Amino acid sequence: MELKKIVVSSLVATLFCVSLVADGHGVHWGYTGHEGAENWGDLAPEYSMCKLGKSQTPINIDKTVLACANDLEAIQFNYETPSKEVVNNGHTIQINIEGGSSIKIDGILFTLKQFHFHTPSENQINGKYFPLEAHLVHASAGGELAVIALMFENGAENQLVKKVWDVMPHEADKTAPLTLSAKEIEAFLPKNKEYYRFSGSLTTPPCSEGVRWLVLKNYATISAGQVEEFLHTIHHENNRPIQPINARKVMH
Ligand SMILES: [Zn+2]
Repeated sequence: MELKKIVVSSLVATLFCVSLVADGHGVHWGYTGHEGAENWGDLAPEYSMCKLGKSQTPINIDKTVLACANDLEAIQFNYETPSKEVVNNGHTIQINIEGGSSIKIDGILFTLKQFHFHTPSENQINGKYFPLEAHLVHASAGGELAVIALMFENGAENQLVKKVWDVMPHEADKTAPLTLSAKEIEAFLPKNKEYYRFSGSLTTPPCSEGVRWLVLKNYATISAGQVEEFLHTIHHENNRPIQPINARKVMH
């Protein structure tokens, strides 16, 4: 009993310490040096999936991992609410969405919570990196996640990105109001929404698995100057290295 009590109280203390250090964001992590992606799994016990997980994201989607699905269903989009703010969280620029926008897949409703950016891309297609990748993060009432990934090629300036960059905070942990309409957010995505699908994880600690990854086959464009501006604001590249595919197949 005594031992159990000690274990429990030390666990409580650990959690308490973590939440103190954490300031609400978990143990500190980053993309360079000791806090970099190679060490995430060792930074905190709750980040252990980052090194032990067998279904981690990002991956390289190439023909060796593709498996034909006869009925990869169309994602049903119901984006009906605007964005409310843009946050510089020190790791990325994130746009938070008012509740009420959703997608439906596998018969489950997933609410659009936020979207954010990585440079260069995290996932690869046929071994190729893209200058930028957006992740639109959706959560079900049961806490499951579905992420739509959108790749950007070098080209014309992106109008929605311009609106975001024009008001994004340049200091970490700052928020600015931003109203993008539901129409603008939907128009951000390509008309043809065919996708690759695989089971993966969060690409940041705690690297939790069981995430539905839906990587769009069609791309948006971004100008070199816009990528430069993002990099300048975030101060460093923010993409996790490619993870082993292991037993997974990518449906298309
Ligand atoms: Zn992401």
